[in-house]
Amino acid sequence: MKIAFFNSKPYDEKFFNAVNETYNHHIHYFEVHLNEKTAKLAAGFDAVCAFVNDTVDKAVLEQLKAVGISFLALRCAGFNNVDLDAAGQLGITVVRVPAYSPAAVAEHAIGLMMSLNRKFHRSYNRVREGNFSLSGLVGFDMKGKTVGIVGTGKIGVSLAPILNGFGCKVLAYDVKENPEILAMDIPYVSLEDLFAQSDIISLHCPLFKETYHMINADSLCLMKPGVMIINTSRGGLIDTAALIQGLKNKTIGSVGLDVYEEEDSLFFEDLSGTIIDDDIFTRLVTFPNVLITGHQAFLTENALKNIADTTLSNLTTLEQGNPCDNTVALSPA
Ligand code: NAD
Repeated sequence: MKIAFFNSKPYDEKFFNAVNETYNHHIHYFEVHLNEKTAKLAAGFDAVCAFVNDTVDKAVLEQLKAVGISFLALRCAGFNNVDLDAAGQLGITVVRVPAYSPAAVAEHAIGLMMSLNRKFHRSYNRVREGNFSLSGLVGFDMKGKTVGIVGTGKIGVSLAPILNGFGCKVLAYDVKENPEILAMDIPYVSLEDLFAQSDIISLHCPLFKETYHMINADSLCLMKPGVMIINTSRGGLIDTAALIQGLKNKTIGSVGLDVYEEEDSLFFEDLSGTIIDDDIFTRLVTFPNVLITGHQAFLTENALKNIADTTLSNLTTLEQGNPCDNTVALSPA
């Protein structure tokens, strides 16, 4: 299949080229994002491969269809950037990579927790400057702390045993109970109880209308003073303005973010030589108790290999005219 691969980075090309030795697709890498201006580049290809921060709205899908694209392969799990209704109406089949390495994201969440707790981000800078003062670096034992996991799907389930290993008391919340969590003797509680009882809250549910801004001014009022909030899921789960208020009035102890609600205009690019005009983001990075990574929780060799393998396998399945298990929007019959 001829694949127009948008928004490519050197690490994508490395892993896709290696895996493609098995699949033998023809892949053309475009560094530009997929959007209304670039969609026409897909002319002459059979499929488009896009990422979480590409624009795949109705206008883009219409253009893709007009140049002959029938397949959209997302090389990510989330599909909230795709207008699925439009894809269905246009007969564009959308496939994704539902799981590539839950461990990668769970371990990154732990990394954020441990760095914020033991202040690695601050001590790294201090020691390089010859400042060996320990003032302001006091952390806490993870053992005995209560950690609330919101969303106990693949990533939440991967996180739970690591926290159990630390000797934490783990609480869970989800709209449906996962037997793997119950088998670890982890209790499900209401979201309100999880917020009220947790020393650390880690978000692992998808961004839906129901979960948009689940961390907001009201839910922050339910939380323990000094709570640590970790979000490696989707930025829209947190009302960032309310988060900043909670940090300013010191009710929130620390925040670790791998995602940010307005990340599309920032993340995945080197903006170090430009002026960032997102004042909310720039305020966030001024707090010593906030640690932000740029949507890199998935970025392990294992995950990149799995992403490439599933994406190319999805396209081979579609090319052979077979139904693909990883389809998120079926073409209308
Ligand atoms: P998953 O589908 O396996 O699990 C999601 C869980 O959330 C499910 O158990 C589901 O029942 C639950 N859920 C749904 N609605 C809920 C609600 N209203 N309240 C609480 N729970 C609810 O997904 P996953 O693979 O565990 O991934 C979780 C999220 O992590 C993804 O949606 C994605 O946004 C994010 N993610 C981030 C990265 C990254 O690099 N930062 C990488 C992969 C995934």
